[in-house]
Amino acid sequence: MKPRDFRRLSSALKELTPHQRQILIDRLQPAGQSSAPGQLVETRMTEKPSCPHCAGERVSRWGFANGLQRYRCNTCRATFNALTHTPLAGLRHKAKWIDYAKQLVEGSSIRKSAAAVGIHPNTAFRWRHRFLRLPNGQQASSLAGIAEADETYFLESQKGRRQGLSRAPRQRGGKAGKRGLSEEQVPVLICRDRTGNTADFVLEKADQAHIGAVLKPLLASDVILCTDSAKSLATVAKKWASPTVRSI
Ligand SMILES: [Zn+2]
Repeated sequence: MKPRDFRRLSSALKELTPHQRQILIDRLQPAGQSSAPGQLVETRMTEKPSCPHCAGERVSRWGFANGLQRYRCNTCRATFNALTHTPLAGLRHKAKWIDYAKQLVEGSSIRKSAAAVGIHPNTAFRWRHRFLRLPNGQQASSLAGIAEADETYFLESQKGRRQGLSRAPRQRGGKAGKRGLSEEQVPVLICRDRTGNTADFVLEKADQAHIGAVLKPLLASDVILCTDSAKSLATVAKKWASPTVRSI
């Protein structure tokens, strides 16, 4: 396109309605180049797409909508995408999902996370509830190829517990009463392989026995597991993820 025509096109964009803008965004982002969350979402379907309405496995690609590949079921003829019938169906601004999820993990307030991600607090509120409703069924049942695992710690939530609080009440969010690791912090193991299979576990204790118990069933025999070599996780990894363990 000539520079002059492009300038004209560019200034005409101001006149688009929200709906027209969305159509243009979709056309500019075919599946292969969609946002990172979009790609992550699509991996659900790429292996073996099946119809969320009738579980039929004969499906055809059926254009794009809202930045996602659409499919049509050859059995019941309903259309769907990778998010149909999940808590994230119909949510917009996918490009901001990963940033928002980080805020959620960090325990930021609705207002703070909305400001950090650049969304309205009402949107942050809605997202919070939808994200937290994602079922554990999305957990990977096995990891293959190159996988990473890491242990992390969350402050245990005692929200709503009126009696038997094991510590003095604190303001929302807040810090652990003791420095370093303590019973207030819950160990969580997060594992992920390069194809996007992810699994996480709340551990009773972050020792070899507990980590081994959840990790071992997940690992394919030839998996290469990258871990932080300083942790007991590395010992477990050496035991179960033969033959190669790489440190990160
Ligand atoms: Zn169907």
